[in-house]
Amino acid sequence: MGLLDDLTNENNFLHVRRAWCSVCTLISKLSKEEAKALQDRMDNPSVSHRALSKILKTNGHDVTEGTLGRHRRGDCQGVAKG
Ligand SMILES: [Zn+2]
Repeated sequence: MGLLDDLTNENNFLHVRRAWCSVCTLISKLSKEEAKALQDRMDNPSVSHRALSKILKTNGHDVTEGTLGRHRRGDCQGVAKG
């Protein structure tokens, strides 16, 4: 019993998995080509969150800069491969 037990007990972490963010959700809805184009831009560090957010909003996808930043840092579950 104690800290080590709690930290090594998988059951303590099952219910606090990182969640999908609105970027994850958006990617899952886009066509394969659109999702790839968006991913390519997000993978490019010279592309700002602001620029991406603006383009997404223009196309009817309300994704904030903050959410884009979080997604790009990997602080969300991310989209399952395949
Ligand atoms: Zn995400």
